[in-house]
Amino acid sequence: MNGINLCDHRAKEWDMKQIKEASKMIPVMAQADVLVVGSGPGGLAAALAACREGMDTMLVERFGCFGGNITQASVESIAWYRHAGTVESEGIGFEFEVRAKEMGASRKEPQSQSEALDTEMFKYVADMLIEEAGIKPVLHCLAVEAVMEGGAIRGIITESKSGRQAILAKRVIDATGDADIACRAGAPYQIAQKQDLLGVTVTFSCSGVHKAQFLEYVKTHPASLKNWAEETSGKEAHLLSPYLAEPFRKAKEAGEIPDDVEIAGTWSSLTEQGDATYLNLVYMLGFDATNVRDLTRAEMEGRKQAMWAIAAMKKYTPGFENAKLRTFGSSLGIRESRKIIGRCTITRHDVMNQARFDDAIGIFPEFLDGYGIVIIPTTGRYFQVPYGIMVPQKVDNLLVAGRCVAGDQISHAATRQMMCCAVTGQGAGVAAAVSIKQNSTCSKVDIKQVQKSLQKQGVRIS
Ligand SMILES: Cc1cc2nc3c(=O)[nH]c(=O)nc-3n(C[C@H](O)[C@H](O)[C@H](O)COP(=O)(O)OP(=O)(O)OC[C@H]3O[C@@H](n4cnc5c(N)ncnc54)[C@H](O)[C@@H]3O)c2cc1C
Repeated sequence: MNGINLCDHRAKEWDMKQIKEASKMIPVMAQADVLVVGSGPGGLAAALAACREGMDTMLVERFGCFGGNITQASVESIAWYRHAGTVESEGIGFEFEVRAKEMGASRKEPQSQSEALDTEMFKYVADMLIEEAGIKPVLHCLAVEAVMEGGAIRGIITESKSGRQAILAKRVIDATGDADIACRAGAPYQIAQKQDLLGVTVTFSCSGVHKAQFLEYVKTHPASLKNWAEETSGKEAHLLSPYLAEPFRKAKEAGEIPDDVEIAGTWSSLTEQGDATYLNLVYMLGFDATNVRDLTRAEMEGRKQAMWAIAAMKKYTPGFENAKLRTFGSSLGIRESRKIIGRCTITRHDVMNQARFDDAIGIFPEFLDGYGIVIIPTTGRYFQVPYGIMVPQKVDNLLVAGRCVAGDQISHAATRQMMCCAVTGQGAGVAAAVSIKQNSTCSKVDIKQVQKSLQKQGVRIS
């Protein structure tokens, strides 16, 4: 008999709290030197970096496209912090932006010296980057378990339309955003209380916008970062922001948006055809992205709020009178969930005070956005990103990249940024490769060699 046989439990009541899954042999789908799980800016950078070091590299993604929040939640503003004085991380994150521009997959970002990614086209850009590098791609494949050998990871178990399969690897990089693999492998992690986590967002886009009229409205109703940030370093106050609040305030006053719902946020690029491609206006607190019921509630509540937002813009925003919903982000946008307890941790003090580390694998400009704080790197200040925040405790040969690296609450306002996720991704990919070449492990890898290889790949370390 296939399936799980309830008769084995000697009980058939429907109020059973647990059922037993029998162990079984499952096929090994593939073996690789480096296996990267999750393909957001962290995972994509990790896979490219490992592959460019000559590793047989596999990239596994649960959805049907690579890119993570970029392609699934349409987050297009990859470098909205960049101003004349900004010192950049360089490396693969910068390459995403440049390559997208070269392939006609970007537009000018409205508030900075950067490109906004065309997030639909970026699906294709990511495919091209993966194909050219020779990474082995697997889409529609959810990683559900870690395969262990002693204190080290040796692969993952996946679920897909092909059934339950294993992938074995010498090194695994967890770039799932939620530290799914580290959690399954038994590495210690932390997750804040629901009410303290950054909000989740259903992003959406509109067509039928009269661009010139809307931009005229923006000119007469200019917003700056001080309109929405509770704490800045002072120099941000005068910087213009594509922030929109007035139409939603009016809709609330008219009883068209419930009192307990807060809608406000940013628009981003506008096409000549009248598309507002990325509307980040719904921000919902109190949802845990590792809880499937919370994810369901947030998707549905977010779509409801997006429809209220569109109705308010149509009524109260010049240029939006004939606007229509074009797309919802294909998945809920998550900003924060599990974070590993690493070999070391990065803190508020580090990211705000140009921290320097012996095990630096890159730098990131002093850019913070989260928990009411916005600091924009207009002055060339930056901090180094240490290797230790990607190294979990208790599990060897596993590295973590992207938003789930170790750190305190406020440092997350910097390390969660997509360019910083690419920094940790590239660092993890190269460190995994160097550890294999040296016949070492992720916990003992020669960091000087990692730094040399990263510099060869174009990463700025100091
Ligand atoms: C609405 C919103 C607006 C934002 N705005 C900005 C901004 O303007 N600028 C900026 O820099 N950052 C912004 N961020 C933050 C940024 O998008 C994220 O912090 C960043 O994308 C995290 O990158 P990551 O690679 O760690 O994870 P993600 O981008 O979340 O990618 C994780 C990937 O792993 C996959 N995955 C997850 N679990 C599994 C599994 N078990 N098996 C297989 N695959 C799995 C996912 O499908 C996904 O593709 C925003 C975030 C949101 C939600």
